[in-house]
Amino acid sequence: MTSPTALTELDDAALRQRVIDCGGQPFQARQIAQWVYRHGVTDYDGMKNVPGALKNRLAAELSLRSSQVENADLAADGTEKLLVRLRDGQSVECVIIPDDARTTLCVSSQVGCPVGCVFCASGMFGVIRNLTVGEIVEQVLHAKARLKGDRRITNLVVMGMGEPMLNLPSLLPALRRLHDKDGIDMGARRITVSTSGYPRQMAEFAEADPSYNLAVSLHAADDELRRKLVPTAKHPVKDIVAAASSYFAHKGREVTFEVVLLAQVNDRPQDAEALVFALGAIPCTVNLIPWNPVEELASTGLRRPHVAAVDAFAESLRAGGLKVTVRRQRGADQSAACGQLRLRDLRERGDTAARC
Ligand code: SAH
Ligand code: SF4
Repeated sequence: MTSPTALTELDDAALRQRVIDCGGQPFQARQIAQWVYRHGVTDYDGMKNVPGALKNRLAAELSLRSSQVENADLAADGTEKLLVRLRDGQSVECVIIPDDARTTLCVSSQVGCPVGCVFCASGMFGVIRNLTVGEIVEQVLHAKARLKGDRRITNLVVMGMGEPMLNLPSLLPALRRLHDKDGIDMGARRITVSTSGYPRQMAEFAEADPSYNLAVSLHAADDELRRKLVPTAKHPVKDIVAAASSYFAHKGREVTFEVVLLAQVNDRPQDAEALVFALGAIPCTVNLIPWNPVEELASTGLRRPHVAAVDAFAESLRAGGLKVTVRRQRGADQSAACGQLRLRDLRERGDTAARC
């Protein structure tokens, strides 16, 4: 017998059809969606206004979710990292980052990542598979359930494991569901997708309705240096910057360029100069991210730059006319960089060798 599909995989039309097939009325699909996404029920029993017979028939063929939280790591600063176990035994991470009135949730888009940036834990073993629509949405449901009091997820960033532009067929319907009034009802302005730079997919993303924010992980404006950091990068910096520029022209949304700073690698004066030259003409912000060391990458010799070096780099960019923000480290007392909780899980399960 094939295992039932999770309800979170269904779009509105498919859910409506299932409800009708199970003897229900179309309006009950909307009620069910509200129970699942707005109220976060985890079983059919919790759906108070849905008739028992309909719930029983649906439950027989459709589970509400396909994943579960297996492990949660809470840092002293309130950052909480969740390890989410998927139906096929794979795992992904999502991270809840509270900051005063804001609560940002960082979600994954793939199991692993095919891009293989030299400083990143997510790409160490390549990509295993894309996440499904439901698996992306469920990360938000799991996170919502962990929030205390009247805390809400105010911002969503697709900056966890994986390259979102390589999974647009799942990502776009998932974001739509999160944005929907009957879904999580999250404003598109509060949703940011980060990419390591795929111009064709960025153009496709620019066609999405509603308009989300776009962040581009540039790391370096010089092609040769960038290829050292993002070895699979096929697109020249100028094409990536042009795609970001078109995104702004199309959507009216300024793009953020992310630069993971590595000591003596891409934090030198000439690296700042190259960024000013490449980005000076387009409306954007540069977000500097001092590298979070990854234990498994210790042998690479990569180092996090000192605060003074980061400040000096930021000042050079500002002097060149760029808007700059510097990301402060969160969750530093646990496995801080994305992909590390999963690495620990793979290690504990003795899985890493199989993927090397
Ligand atoms: N694949 C997409 C989104 C996921 S990575 C992308 O690369 O944009 C999200 C961000 O985290 C990227 O800017 C990435 O460069 C950064 N990142 C990955 N590993 C990091 C680490 N160890 N320290 C700091 N930033 C890291
Ligand atoms: Fe993939 Fe982004 Fe990590 Fe690069 S930084 S390996 S693109 S997840």
